[in-house]
Amino acid sequence: MTLAQWRQWLREQLAGGESPAVDADVLLCHVLARPRSFLLAWPEYEPTPAECERLSALLARRQRGEPVAYLTGEREFWSLALEVSPATLIPRPDTEVIIEAALARLPARPATLVDLGTGTGAIALALKSERPDDTVLAVEFNPEAAALARRNGERLGLAIEVRQGCWFEPLDGLCFDMILSNPPYIDVADPHLQAGDVRFEPASALVAEQHGMADLHHLIVQSRDHLESGGWLLLEHGWQQGALVRDGFAALGYQQIETLRDYGGQERITLAQWPGRLNAENEHQ
Ligand code: GLN
Repeated sequence: MTLAQWRQWLREQLAGGESPAVDADVLLCHVLARPRSFLLAWPEYEPTPAECERLSALLARRQRGEPVAYLTGEREFWSLALEVSPATLIPRPDTEVIIEAALARLPARPATLVDLGTGTGAIALALKSERPDDTVLAVEFNPEAAALARRNGERLGLAIEVRQGCWFEPLDGLCFDMILSNPPYIDVADPHLQAGDVRFEPASALVAEQHGMADLHHLIVQSRDHLESGGWLLLEHGWQQGALVRDGFAALGYQQIETLRDYGGQERITLAQWPGRLNAENEHQ
């Protein structure tokens, strides 16, 4: 079979999925280790028997629902090619909104930041790539994911420090100009968990207690002890959680509270500035 025939056949086989044409090309590029331009430039190329075998095997896994990013072991985020594995959430394009918001608020001087629950390292690495003079830490609970985030930093030549532990546990006594997190925020009963890629992603990266609010709340409460006065906390959350997150911030005296929408127009990122403990208390007298 020629490359053009494989391409057509894969599209037909993947027709029930969300993006058959893109998936077909991603799998072909991965197995042939060639850029997409090769698929267009050399339609008469005949994949070797070994390549055909690998294509068939990946197709079968995709047809069982496995995310394309787990099949190729890679996903691009903020133009960085990140290694991904079933130990981590697959970085989403919508999370790039948190990067844009962070870049717009960080001071001109070198700053200190931490990404909590970093997974692949996506948020920490994207910011380090834009602001090489910042000190960027990342915290990850799952040791396998922490090792993967470290590998991503090394492969991309981006010097972030990854600490293994639960939320603020490995940050004793440290204060930051900015704290960012894309924590688990989905309710365990949400039907969204029964379809598509999320079925294969680790529940620990997706699901939280208290209708998905438990970790978001923990981060809002604890960040007060780890933010410099005037520092920022930026949180990704579910499309229906914006008001709850804003209320959580307001109740504790955070200021400049704002919610940003994702590329689909849903409330997705809420951020606020910590005025320092004295100022937060005065505000509430
Ligand atoms: N936004 C992702 C989804 O709904 C979940 C990401 C997360 O839980 N942090 O699929």
